[in-house]
Amino acid sequence: ELKPQPMVAIDDVTMAFGAFVAVQNVNLKVGDGEFLSIVGPTGCGKSTILNAIAGLLKPAQGKVSIDGTTVQGVQNNIGYLFQQDALLPWKTAFQNVELGLMFRGVPEEERRAKVTVWLEKVGLKGFGDRFPHQLSGGQRKRVQMAQALITEPKVILMDEPFSALDIHTRHLMQNELLRLWQEDRRAVVMITHDLEEAIALGDRVVVLAAGPKSRVIESFPVDLERPRNVAEIKLDSKF
Ligand code: ADP
Ligand code: MG
Repeated sequence: ELKPQPMVAIDDVTMAFGAFVAVQNVNLKVGDGEFLSIVGPTGCGKSTILNAIAGLLKPAQGKVSIDGTTVQGVQNNIGYLFQQDALLPWKTAFQNVELGLMFRGVPEEERRAKVTVWLEKVGLKGFGDRFPHQLSGGQRKRVQMAQALITEPKVILMDEPFSALDIHTRHLMQNELLRLWQEDRRAVVMITHDLEEAIALGDRVVVLAAGPKSRVIESFPVDLERPRNVAEIKLDSKF
């Protein structure tokens, strides 16, 4: 059951870079606990829409709200897994995951306990002392996943989280993400250019047209009773 008030509401949003209109008149709602997949070709404005939700970019027209409050400026109640590798190279996996809690003034003992739990949840037990360059691509994504989730945000934004990974690692991590999400269903907006992935993970799929002036061209619910398993793979193998 979705709450009557959506967790994220995008009302008639147009996003422009100077005279270039990337996204036009987009309307989207994400319920609390809903996993929304947004799919569309490269350059159609997917990352731009996530940045609008995060408050990193301001709409040229329309408004975005999170849990009923209009987004103005950078939001700290969201978890954002960026498309690019955003880990600090001079900090260990543990320290990278710890950052969000430090910014929020969580006491050291509590931070340590939480980071330890989250490293384990994302399959990185024993990897906390490694620096980003000592981790594989999949492991770095795991660190970013822990970063995005550890502050228990209202909304989780994920920008093509698995597209740079090999197919086996991708399937493994898609399943792990679903398992983590099913533990405490938060609102998720995941972007992908892979329709199969969008359908496999989402409760609902929104399709954007190619840009410029990209719009929502389709929005459909996915059968929620289906088995949510991306592929027949062993979940205990680790990369
Ligand atoms: P997607 O994530 O769907 O691949 P983006 O949201 O990154 O697409 O970009 C949408 C469009 O806006 C593209 O044409 C891109 O070149 C343009 N764009 C994105 N960011 C900027 C920017 N900072 N300045 C100018 N144009 C941009
Ligand atoms: Mg993008």
